[in-house]
Amino acid sequence: MEGKMKGFAMLKIGETGWIEKDIPECGPMDAICKPIALAPCTSDIHTVWEGAIGERHNMILGHEGCAEIVEVGKLVKDFKPGDKVLVPAITPDWNSLEAQNGYPMHSHGMLAGWKFSNFKDGVFGEYFHVNDPDGNLALLPEGVDPADAVMLSDMVPTGFHGAELADIQYGDSVLVIGIGPVGLMSVAGAALKGASRIYAVGTRPKCIEVAKAYGADTFISYKDGPIADQVLDLTSGKGVDKVILAGGDCDTFIDAVKALKAGGKIGNVNYLGSGDYVRIPREEWGVGMGHKMINGGLMLGGRLRMEKLGSLVATGRLDVSKMITHRFEGFEKIEDALYLMKDKPADLIKPVVVL
Ligand code: NDP
Ligand code: ZN
Repeated sequence: MEGKMKGFAMLKIGETGWIEKDIPECGPMDAICKPIALAPCTSDIHTVWEGAIGERHNMILGHEGCAEIVEVGKLVKDFKPGDKVLVPAITPDWNSLEAQNGYPMHSHGMLAGWKFSNFKDGVFGEYFHVNDPDGNLALLPEGVDPADAVMLSDMVPTGFHGAELADIQYGDSVLVIGIGPVGLMSVAGAALKGASRIYAVGTRPKCIEVAKAYGADTFISYKDGPIADQVLDLTSGKGVDKVILAGGDCDTFIDAVKALKAGGKIGNVNYLGSGDYVRIPREEWGVGMGHKMINGGLMLGGRLRMEKLGSLVATGRLDVSKMITHRFEGFEKIEDALYLMKDKPADLIKPVVVL
């Protein structure tokens, strides 16, 4: 396909706008897609307004979408134009050594599996490019609403990865710090993995209501004093088995370590958009010998993962629609949706734009 297309872009740090670009080219192992539903992410906000990944000029934003394929390269086997697909935010190079080593999200460099709105134009364009569709896309499961499917791009896989990184086991007590859409999916993921008690940190009433529905039992406000003190009070000084970090900042790790039992694990999926160092409290880290493990990671991406997560939604075991608080219609509304995400009104969890 040749011609021009419109996209909503980061013009430079702190500035966004509509731009015109060439429709991306389809190589032999690529696909070109047009979005049918889109969502902005808190990471888009970090990227534009905090400059968290450095300067970018005229880069189309967005990495959360559900799409229809319009063109595939001649080496693509399993997809064809007209297929409706789930699009993961992370699209690794599956033949890289890093992927062979079990870390596809870091294929060809740290975090380099994150291509949309990082190393190439994102999904907020009339068309977008997908590398290795056989390895990265999954068919939209029958009966799944494209708006719900957008939650499978990043919110579900990232929130669930928090539960994986924290290695949740049956019966674990779990602290989830941050209950925006990512943390909400960490709550849901921890519950599905068998957590017995879930403490959740956040203040927005809508998020609290939905966190309860996903399995959180006890709520803590970071505005009411140190999180760790509150957790230790609630657990008779024992702390929790696992912590998932989906909000806060570099200093939130201090609370996470303090609130954790010896032998506990921390899973971080929060994007640390500013600050130079993460500090670990020496004494509560068992003076270096407490077996308190800290694990932070980017979601996996990939077709198998998307198919599995998609089937959780298709079978009704996971209801992602609870997170969608605002719906827009029409491609150009992505601008309003992004600015809503930036302003974070109290009743917002996640806006979705249906095209
Ligand atoms: P939100 O901003 O919607 O939610 C953040 C949560 O953290 C809210 O519950 C908020 O509480 C809480 N919070 C704010 N300040 C503090 C604090 N000082 N201490 C403890 N909790 C606090 O973000 P999202 O859920 O959309 O995203 C969460 C993070 O995950 C972001 O940093 C995002 O960029 C990142 N992310 C990471 C990805 C990955 O692959 N690793 C992918 C996608 C996102 P309140 O209720 O008061 O607002
Ligand atoms: Zn995202």
